[in-house]
Amino acid sequence: MPLNIIGEEAKKMGYLRKGKMTIERILKNPSYVGMVYARAFKEHPGGLFPARHEPLIDLTTWEMVQNKLRRPEKTRTIFDENIPLRGILKCHCGQPLTGAPSRGKAGRYYYYYKCKLPRHSNISAIKAHDQMLGITELMSLEGSDVKYIKETIEKGLDKEAVLNKKAIVGKREELDSVQDKLNAVEEKFISDQITRETYDRWTSNYNSQIFSLKAAIQRMGTDINKAFKILARHIDLLTDMKHVYTASDLLGKREFVKLVFDSNLYYFEGIYRTPTMLQMFDHNALKMKDQSQKLWSRNDFSVAKHIVELVYTGRIQCF
Ligand SMILES: [Zn+2]
Repeated sequence: MPLNIIGEEAKKMGYLRKGKMTIERILKNPSYVGMVYARAFKEHPGGLFPARHEPLIDLTTWEMVQNKLRRPEKTRTIFDENIPLRGILKCHCGQPLTGAPSRGKAGRYYYYYKCKLPRHSNISAIKAHDQMLGITELMSLEGSDVKYIKETIEKGLDKEAVLNKKAIVGKREELDSVQDKLNAVEEKFISDQITRETYDRWTSNYNSQIFSLKAAIQRMGTDINKAFKILARHIDLLTDMKHVYTASDLLGKREFVKLVFDSNLYYFEGIYRTPTMLQMFDHNALKMKDQSQKLWSRNDFSVAKHIVELVYTGRIQCF
């Protein structure tokens, strides 16, 4: 979520301080985890030290936020069909894994995901991909879940549609009043109360207002319908996530993994591990654990919103 959106949300919740850096400064402030920053002094090293006060949030959460705030490193990933997870999947040390082929005895190439550091991850791509298919299979939702989600979203859209209608009424009223003003200027001009110059200035001003109001009204009338149609067309795919994954092209697969695991997918001791998985795909988490495919997950996400995002943005494409 971009910082400016967080800023807007904070404003809605009553946070009134303005400024471009305010939110970032709060998120980076170590005092919320009960730490203070101390400068190096004589023989004492500087750094973060526990403070005396009670922390407001836990250290793990704070560190995950710091991770997200770090500007993304500019590493160029060369896309390769054989290793779609290159640059996304991470080693237990946090480094994104690179991938490379290695030549077998019979001259065939076998692909591996590797960490740059010696004796870290070195995973057979075949094994990693099989395991990923297993996970996607377990992600698939039951028909009844999909029905429930669909209904929830419909309700949400209904609510939004009502708000939208109100907003449209407001815009129409605005449009009427601008239209009245335009008429008044015309009358004044006809009855010689204003000069040609004044008339031109005001008519062009009002006409441009009318133009943008009309455009806004039209836009508001179509967006929700469009979102819902796309959603209705795609939502059943959620019962077959394996298909969603396998039918995606290389870029689609990468987007899928990034979105579902919130860019937090690691590999350690032969299994995938993630602290963040979209809640809606999480229902088989225990089974995944049994099959040594996934370790644990933290649920923070609102189900409906992400499904709409998933299908509406078209970032995951499958046919
Ligand atoms: Zn490593």
